[in-house]
Amino acid sequence: MKLSTFQCIGKATLCCFLCFAFANTSMAQESKKRLPIIDVHVHAMGGNPNASPMCPWFLKDMPGSGPNQEPPSFINTNCISPLQPARSDAEMDAAILRANKELNVTMVVSGDAKVIHRWHKAAPDHIIPSLGISNANEMTVEAFRDSLSSGFYKVMGEVAPQYQGMSPSDMSLDEYFGVAEELGVPVGIHMGTGGNGMANITRPEYRASLGQPFLLEDMLARHPKLKIWVMHAGYPMADQMIALMGANAYVYVDLAGFIWSYPLEEIHTYLKRLVQAGFAKRIMYGTDLMMWPELLETSIEVIESANYLSEEQKRDIFFNNAVRFFNLDASKFE
Ligand SMILES: [Zn+2]
Repeated sequence: MKLSTFQCIGKATLCCFLCFAFANTSMAQESKKRLPIIDVHVHAMGGNPNASPMCPWFLKDMPGSGPNQEPPSFINTNCISPLQPARSDAEMDAAILRANKELNVTMVVSGDAKVIHRWHKAAPDHIIPSLGISNANEMTVEAFRDSLSSGFYKVMGEVAPQYQGMSPSDMSLDEYFGVAEELGVPVGIHMGTGGNGMANITRPEYRASLGQPFLLEDMLARHPKLKIWVMHAGYPMADQMIALMGANAYVYVDLAGFIWSYPLEEIHTYLKRLVQAGFAKRIMYGTDLMMWPELLETSIEVIESANYLSEEQKRDIFFNNAVRFFNLDASKFE
């Protein structure tokens, strides 16, 4: 509500009261910093002028189709207010910085090295650089060790052998995990979800069966000091995920990707199952943020609205679990 100057003449008391009331509210809002959130799964990328808008939870209505028909589109743009992509690098950078400052989100970021450096420079306290490798052809073990030892990268991820038709326990990746284990660098590994038609339309090497959390067991047995988190929480293989976390006491998960793509009820059923099984201290918040910056608010809202989670469990998922997992100093977030 706004009062014009004219309306205020002769109503000084009321106006002043309102002015002070509004001033106090905005001061209170400014001084009340949002509680910190750690998003453990962000992809560094620029904006794209040709990118499509996207409807969250687009997989709630998987199209029926056949091999001789036009392949179904991967995402869905048919909703009341689809999320808009960042149309330029500057727009994307600004959105990330705004999330860092206004939403108080700290991000573990992998992907385009140039973009990671740019974001890190703009908000060094809010960007945790992560170095991903999914295939030995991408980088030698020596180069990988040098990069991790340089001190810039604090995390290894996203490791995504599933997209290459490979198990995470494949021996070609073993030395890389050995380096992370030796340097005490935590590792994020993609397991599980891919979206509609990932194997037969998008990525021919992809296999749903290579996202089974049990495939991590041999690798974990070879590297007992390695700290890993299973990205996408091995969705939808809750039984294997729970058994793996039970057998391996240091394995955590993140909620990235499926939190905004699969049907909302399904997401809550899956998350609730993990919590019900006793793992609320090992679930970390993550978005899988790509070029649609509003995925941040969309995903935060999913956790905030989860009425089966206590406030303490929400704070664990948003913040405390990641602080513990990544050995961060909680006092630096105050
Ligand atoms: Zn992933």
